[in-house]
Amino acid sequence: MTIYDYSPSTIAARVGTEVDGTYHSLGIPIYMTNNYVFDNAEEAKNATQSPEFGDCYTRISNPTNNELGKAVAALEGAEMGLPFASGAAAFSALTLTLLKAGDHVVCDDTCYAATNYLLSTLLVKFGVEVTMLDFTNYEGVQKALRPNTKLVYFETPCNPTMKVIDIARIVQIVKNSGSEALLVTDSTFATPFITKPLELGIDVVLHSSTKFICGHGDAVGGVLVGPQSIIEEIWTVGLKNLGGCASPFNSFLMLRGIKTLELRMEYSCKMALAVAQFLETHPKIERVNYPGLPSHPAHEVAKKQMKNFGALLTFEVKGGMEAGVALMNNVKLCALAVSLGEANTLVQHPASMTHWYVAEETRRASGITDGLIRFAAGLESINDIIADLDQALGGVKS
Ligand code: PLP
Repeated sequence: MTIYDYSPSTIAARVGTEVDGTYHSLGIPIYMTNNYVFDNAEEAKNATQSPEFGDCYTRISNPTNNELGKAVAALEGAEMGLPFASGAAAFSALTLTLLKAGDHVVCDDTCYAATNYLLSTLLVKFGVEVTMLDFTNYEGVQKALRPNTKLVYFETPCNPTMKVIDIARIVQIVKNSGSEALLVTDSTFATPFITKPLELGIDVVLHSSTKFICGHGDAVGGVLVGPQSIIEEIWTVGLKNLGGCASPFNSFLMLRGIKTLELRMEYSCKMALAVAQFLETHPKIERVNYPGLPSHPAHEVAKKQMKNFGALLTFEVKGGMEAGVALMNNVKLCALAVSLGEANTLVQHPASMTHWYVAEETRRASGITDGLIRFAAGLESINDIIADLDQALGGVKS
């Protein structure tokens, strides 16, 4: 029996403790090496055939990286996991391995900027056809499928609208249509402790482990998990040749993060819900987008597929651009920063901070309105964070 035969909470707490066969260290060893020495030529040949056989060169395989792949796969209930240098590297390895000219992709229209760029600008250049639409238009998804659709891709919950997509319903639509498209979801916002996409029929799950899996804002990484046949193909083509391998040191940080992932998620979700409830009744707030609120349009879907409602929310402050900027300038404890999933609570105002260059009409059409604020719960006292938002809103003219 290994730690991977236990329940997810135990796996998470004990990851990395069975890696060091030489010194039996209880801590996770960081194998900072480029290469590995072989006893004979045959052993070297085997090491380059499959990660199962051993390590050869760290871009291809590394014990610390492999352990991270194994850990995330175990938490998601997948056969195999593969870590990358970033979430974006994981997505590019996935698509460049599995797609070719003439293939078609159906993707939700609210996806991470680099994902959107790769699909709608780069892959299109190489002859891949892409349809982007709102996946909560379930009929539309069905209509968008074509005989050459090879990939159906979406995130849930989505950034920044906090749209929740019914995973089981999308799976059913794709399977019932007879399509053989691979179903892939980016579960970065949910984490394996909140949603289990594979149990709902998804084939492959992507995580930007930079976020909650790392949990401390000190490393960038990505992980893909899924069936061994698919993940091995991505390993052989996308990781080996594109080269977006994880740093073993970052994998160590991710493995350390996993040990507290469940507890951190529980706490940050509790904070997000409390903040959402506080803001929902605040006179200076127009609207709060949080899957845990009954006012969320997909609250029932969220209840069905999420164990908890996530650590992210967005809200619309009355007074548009000026009010959004004022709120950012007034917060004292919440940190003005992009990203999410850290001990620090992070806030950002997309219209003035990250999406200022996007044409106003395009920005608004994608749900990034002038007064929209994104809140990523951290681990501070919930009362302190609410008090900070309260005093910051007090200074906003609306
Ligand atoms: N997916 C989501 C949902 C993200 O938020 C991000 C980054 O913010 C990515 C993917 C890309 O991950 P990375 O920054 O690790 O490349």
